[in-house]
Amino acid sequence: AHLDRIGAVDGGVHAYLHVDADAALAAAADVDARRAAGAELGPLAGVPLALKDVITTSDMPTTAGSRILEGWRPPYDATIVQRLRDAGVIILGKTNMDEFAMGSSTENSAFGPTHNPWDLSRIPGGSGGGSAAALASFQAPLAIGTDTGGSIRQPAAVTGTVGVKPTYGGVSRYGLIACASSLDQAGPCARTVQDAALLHEVIAGHDALDSTSIDRPVPDVAGAARQGAEGDLSGLRVGVVSELGGEGYQAGVEARFHETVELLGKLGADVVEVSCPHFSYGLAAYYLILPSEVSSNLARFDAMRYGLRVGDDGTRSAEDVMNATRGTGFGAEAKRRIILGTYALSSGYYDAYYGQAQKVRTLISRDFAAAFEQVDVLVSPTTPTTAFPLGERVDDPLAMYKNDLCTIPSNLAGNASASFPCGLADEDGLPVGLHVMAPVMADERVYRVGAAVE
Ligand code: GLN
Repeated sequence: AHLDRIGAVDGGVHAYLHVDADAALAAAADVDARRAAGAELGPLAGVPLALKDVITTSDMPTTAGSRILEGWRPPYDATIVQRLRDAGVIILGKTNMDEFAMGSSTENSAFGPTHNPWDLSRIPGGSGGGSAAALASFQAPLAIGTDTGGSIRQPAAVTGTVGVKPTYGGVSRYGLIACASSLDQAGPCARTVQDAALLHEVIAGHDALDSTSIDRPVPDVAGAARQGAEGDLSGLRVGVVSELGGEGYQAGVEARFHETVELLGKLGADVVEVSCPHFSYGLAAYYLILPSEVSSNLARFDAMRYGLRVGDDGTRSAEDVMNATRGTGFGAEAKRRIILGTYALSSGYYDAYYGQAQKVRTLISRDFAAAFEQVDVLVSPTTPTTAFPLGERVDDPLAMYKNDLCTIPSNLAGNASASFPCGLADEDGLPVGLHVMAPVMADERVYRVGAAVE
């Protein structure tokens, strides 16, 4: 049924870069056969899933949205792919994304943009717009995203779906093509909170192949989602972040957000306002730290090891071939960030830029720590606006970067955060997201709140 749906609507949405119908049907038949034989099945046996194309799969190409990896087939599965397969999940295909997960609209994909199923002339968010659009257009019931500054949560918000960025280290990054390694985190995307929780439990947990993986029990997110669905939040302390919202936020986003905060109060939560004074510097710190890590991570695409090789006619030097390949293979945003990062890390500037940004990062972590002394979760809108028209911000990187004002602090501090649908804006009838932030390894709290407002 999902393959039929993809055939019917993906020509207009373009959520997928690659669909492997034969493999999906074979995997489904295998589940049926094992069920018929009375074999023990995994917790998500037979459930189809759309996988962001930044996660390596040994049986499908992996492009990270970039020409430089076009046609590349990884030699191994990411840990989360292995866990999905063990759970019986059927991977339908790979979804579109901004190149190397840099962007907020999926317009930086080398393979053309994805369209928002709510209005095909609008962006589906980014960088994981393909996964979110696949969910919103019923082309998959589950999806995987990755979130470095908001790439799970912002697409969820603008497509009316659920997206969770687990605690940094909660889900293995082994086999996730790195954007900014100290910020990247894979997580579950779904149309309901319960579904996201079931997927979370399958992909989370310690992995010896990822040196930043946390060796602690997976938070009981499915239990918390069930508890939240009963609609009782008594005893929960909720902090509304004073710095996120207000001026510059779309009226319809503000209206739905404040109604949802009122609802939390009616469900028994104690709601207070909390100040996180350094959150306002999050965007500036992020756009030094992220490009610095990107400039280093993308150095591996050197025309020798993976994917594309341009101009190698047997007479040109390795350096020439590398230049030609990187010049052709990377898009404008990847180049912009490589240049920014190389500059920020260069001798004499390191302390002035990267070092300062890391200090701001510490201040933001301290804001979270102080806030979580007073409250159990923090809330804000997920994004300042609903989905904007395709093309509107492509030539204005700063306007594009502002999408992530609310989501970036959680990547800098590494704590759990999620976006849940909270209604439609009056002006344009488009979805609005509620952003919920919880302490490190207290991921279950975001599920409790999300399930309560669902
Ligand atoms: N939109 C942000 C950026 O462009 C976030 C990206 C992400 O989370 N991968 O960097």
